[in-house]
Amino acid sequence: MADNEISARLCEVLEKIKNAEKKTGRKEGSVRLLAVSKFHPAESVVAAYEAGQKFFGENRVQEAVEKFSVLEEKFPDINLHMIGTLQTNKVRHAVDVASCIESVDRISLIEEIEKQCAKKNKHVKIYFELHTGEESKAGFADMQELEQALVFCAEGNAPHVVPRGFMTMAPFTNDVGLIRKSFVTLREAAEKLREKFVQFDLSELSMGMSNDFEIAIEEGSTEVRIGTAIFGERK
Ligand SMILES: *Cc1c(COP(=O)(O)O)cnc(C)c1O
Repeated sequence: MADNEISARLCEVLEKIKNAEKKTGRKEGSVRLLAVSKFHPAESVVAAYEAGQKFFGENRVQEAVEKFSVLEEKFPDINLHMIGTLQTNKVRHAVDVASCIESVDRISLIEEIEKQCAKKNKHVKIYFELHTGEESKAGFADMQELEQALVFCAEGNAPHVVPRGFMTMAPFTNDVGLIRKSFVTLREAAEKLREKFVQFDLSELSMGMSNDFEIAIEEGSTEVRIGTAIFGERK
């Protein structure tokens, strides 16, 4: 896609986010846009960056490293979040390029992030992914499992890992009721867990994609992950 088209579509998405914030009485700027650049070339990321976008999302480590190790040298304020299911043996490379891993779905993954971050003497933010109805089984299966992971962090087992919030994917459907239910499940889980784990700042709720982000904002999202609406269809 041409650079000016990416910048125009980015503007459009930002405008829609602003309107959704207004409509639901949210403060302007309370929802962050994560531009999901997976399958799109580094040039597309640069086009969005030059139009003002700072936060990007990728879901495969190898692709993320190829693009962002170079981009981060050039643009020190660019910020990458990993949003896809993460294999343990990829963590070492993931923490080189990502400031945040949103797809944390098991304690063994937290252990590996800790191990790799400790070696590199760095901190990485994480969101806990909860399965709330999407077809794939991504995320912690339920609240109990997710809570165990928070207990693991609260016991001081992962000092280089910084819990910051929660993430989910709604089911891929036109049924607005089902999509909303998924977002409400995450918000209610977050509300309960924030009360239990006051030592952490668990303020982030990453939910909403190109086709459902306005519903997600109505339900309290603080971060929407949008690819297609900015960069076009993935090949
Ligand atoms: C690809 C992806 C997105 C973006 O999806 P679009 O429909 O292109 O906006 C968001 N979240 C995750 C976890 C993804 O894998």
